Amino acid sequence: MSEVSAAPERLYAKREAVHPQLVHGKYRFTKWLVLFATLGVYYFLPWLRWPRAAHEPQQAVLVDFEGARLYFFNIEIWPDEFYLVTGILVLSALALFFVTSVWGRLWCGYACPQTVWTDLFIAVERMVEGDRNKRLQLAKKPWTADKILKKVTKHSLWLLIAMATGGAWVLYFHDAPTVISKFFVGQAPASSYLFVGVLTFTTYSLAGLMREQVCTYMCPWPRIQGAMTDDKTFAVGYYALRGEPRGKHKKGQDWSELGDCIDCHACVTACPMGIDIRDGDQLECINCGLCVDACDTMMKKVGLPKGLIAYGADYRDVKDPKARRRWPQIIRPRTLFYAGVTILASAIMLFGLTGRSSLEFGVERDRAPAFTRLSDGSIRNAITARVLNKQSETHPFTIEIDGPEGLTTAAVGYEIEDGQIHFDVAPDKQIRLRIFLTMPKGEGDGDEITVTLTDDVTGETSSESLGFLGGSRR
Ligand code: SF4
Ligand code: SF4
Repeated sequence: MSEVSAAPERLYAKREAVHPQLVHGKYRFTKWLVLFATLGVYYFLPWLRWPRAAHEPQQAVLVDFEGARLYFFNIEIWPDEFYLVTGILVLSALALFFVTSVWGRLWCGYACPQTVWTDLFIAVERMVEGDRNKRLQLAKKPWTADKILKKVTKHSLWLLIAMATGGAWVLYFHDAPTVISKFFVGQAPASSYLFVGVLTFTTYSLAGLMREQVCTYMCPWPRIQGAMTDDKTFAVGYYALRGEPRGKHKKGQDWSELGDCIDCHACVTACPMGIDIRDGDQLECINCGLCVDACDTMMKKVGLPKGLIAYGADYRDVKDPKARRRWPQIIRPRTLFYAGVTILASAIMLFGLTGRSSLEFGVERDRAPAFTRLSDGSIRNAITARVLNKQSETHPFTIEIDGPEGLTTAAVGYEIEDGQIHFDVAPDKQIRLRIFLTMPKGEGDGDEITVTLTDDVTGETSSESLGFLGGSRR
């Protein structure tokens, strides 16, 4: 009988916490700028006021469910114009495809909310517990009062940020000062508490506890973006021909057999994803450039040219640092395609935005009965004209009805002069006019009747046509 091993092989490896070291350099600086800009916009935008008509909300950016409207500075999106929001999302996706095809995962490295909030949470952690080495030491220490205090402080600050994140989200859906004043006395809508709770939980756990695991295991984008990149895409890479064979460059020793990599591990300890870029292209790499800053700092210290790790497309082939290509090759069939589709989509969006109508007009006919025979034998069709004034002031409107000879018209509650009905519609209001169209006995069957609405201030018109029914009845 064969012997059975007593200890089964373990296939599960426990996650090692990543404690990135703070680095300094142009990419770290750019990341700080993007972090402050994006978080600044997110947290403060709902507080920005915007002058509108008295009956409208004065908040610059607001999703107003009650009024069925989306306000974005001087743009108002009505429910029937929601395709514009879809268009903006499609446009953003196309722009992202273009950026990814040129510069790789720049979105992941700099602007993705997961990256930005994780960066913020790590900055807080660093502020409370110290930089990488101190954090590693603290993790190994027993639970002393000092350790407990640091951990409680860190998690409390994380929770505060997470709550502020959920709170800011809610402000986009209500008047910000009003909902805040009600929130802390328990009078805000129940949905506000729900969303603050959900977003506090997700921000705290995704950015504080799970961090790089979200990008590696949960996010589909790293898998999808492979379809947008090729060997010309600029991504962070290690110039292995120059760096290898790696080894410590010790004083007084001959370095001639060694490559430029001094094996200092600065690039590894700086990486927020916990990977070693020297191992080659990896799914985990978010293209953030922090290892570039770390390595450039080391290269400067040892008096070697920068760029052993750099943004490039030629890092697999180039040895001489002077021969390194500094700028991406933007004009390629793939990028031209993405740019072309993005420009086309932008033009369609612009056309849709500028060509929007400030009024909405519709005509519906009565279906049951479709027509009525009057006592003198004439035939009457009834229609309802619906007029919605999307402007911020009351506007006068005119409805004019054109039809075959013999057509007489009447409107419930309105005078008709020379075939025209004049009326006012208040801002954001809709009115319905009930109109009767009458033709003499035996005339006008199937004849076209046109109902035209004119905004008497802007001159904008809209027409609807319908055929007269029942005129052949004798
Ligand atoms: S390998 Fe470099 S670029 Fe990639 S995630 Fe790590 S630090 Fe960022
Ligand atoms: S930082 Fe540069 S020199 Fe140091 S290990 Fe990384 S690649 Fe080598």
